[in-house]
Amino acid sequence: MPQQQDQTIPSYLDSENPGPWGIFLEQVDRVAPYMGELSKLTNTLKHPERCLIVDVPVRLDDGSIAHFEGYRVQHSLSRGPGKGGVRYHQDVTLSEVMALSAWMSVKTAVVGLPFGGGKGGIRIDPRNHSPAEMERITRRYIQEISPIIGVNQDIPGPDMNTNGQTMAWMMDSYSTLKGSQQPGIVTGKPIALGGSLGRVEATGRGVFIVGAAAAKDNGIDLNGARISLQGFGNVGGTAARLFRDAGAKIVAVQDHTGTLYDAEGLDVDALLLHVQKTGGVGGAANTTCIAAEDFWSIETDILIPAALEGQITKHNADAIRARIIVEGANGPTHPDADDILTQKGIVIVPDVLANAGGVTVSYFEWVQNASSFYWTVEEINQRLEKIMLDAYHAISATAGEHQVSLRTAAFITACTRLLEARELRGI
Ligand code: GLU
Repeated sequence: MPQQQDQTIPSYLDSENPGPWGIFLEQVDRVAPYMGELSKLTNTLKHPERCLIVDVPVRLDDGSIAHFEGYRVQHSLSRGPGKGGVRYHQDVTLSEVMALSAWMSVKTAVVGLPFGGGKGGIRIDPRNHSPAEMERITRRYIQEISPIIGVNQDIPGPDMNTNGQTMAWMMDSYSTLKGSQQPGIVTGKPIALGGSLGRVEATGRGVFIVGAAAAKDNGIDLNGARISLQGFGNVGGTAARLFRDAGAKIVAVQDHTGTLYDAEGLDVDALLLHVQKTGGVGGAANTTCIAAEDFWSIETDILIPAALEGQITKHNADAIRARIIVEGANGPTHPDADDILTQKGIVIVPDVLANAGGVTVSYFEWVQNASSFYWTVEEINQRLEKIMLDAYHAISATAGEHQVSLRTAAFITACTRLLEARELRGI
């Protein structure tokens, strides 16, 4: 019988330029040689289980009707219901949501949460819309994806440009649709609606926890350590505050509004306030702005990319002068750049481990919703720290055992868990 060709770039993507999905495929290829008996199933990771594209029509405030493209992708449901955020961004594409959902499968497996991987998005620039328009768009989106989500099916959460208010609208619309209260349908809700204490800062806190552990392992004393951050939103801002509290100096910060540098350390509290008021770091009082392209070559102990994916490429990797990189963003480092950085002896704590704090506390929120019993912030932070540190130490041990990078070690651990579950369930 002729062999069925295994088509790894689905027909709905441009096979010449598959975008972020191409990065994920390359990461799977890199881990395949370590999969042993399970390698016969590696290709299943290259096929998202379900991709949904929806039209989100909305009546704008001026009475006209606009259409936005919305997505929900469930990469893997082998280990549990889908889990992952919903991103609102003008550049969102299906390829990006596919990659982000796959990274959620890997991430939940790395930290051992009983979830699969999902992700959603709407191709929209939220800055161009009023809160009332965003509410209508969010409610319509959730109606459109409602056939494939559910408390035990797929649980959206926050991501770039979505927050507690967005999650509240989603929960309300879904509950109305079902005719019963469904707090566990989304995570990242406001506390008043069953959200979890500690969720807002969980991703940044997780970055700090594993970043501090990696610093220790690499002989970096946090007291006086230099830190540079790309992105000063929820993740970057929280991580900056926690590293500063531990004695580190935030020497450089970059976002879409500017790049700031201060060898003596920027005033983190003043910057957080400025960002809250203006939406970016640019123009903050008493700061020096430098050229955006100079950000990467700043000498630093810990570099934290905490913005969009694809920021570190073969074009800027050579310039980087950091001792360790802790990936707060999803997919910030291109595989080519990974090789360059590794050759330079820079240790990378990969996204699928470093930024898993957010989804970990989302898991706590889901568990609390299911039992209607709520934990204190101390309990949340303690459990978060234990999960993050256990995962970090296990991944470090795997890296040592196979003499591979932390990223490959994280993929070995996660893909083994994913494929074991897949094998037990059967095709
Ligand atoms: N957006 C978060 C991430 O990339 C997770 C969202 C959630 O909690 O489901 O990890």
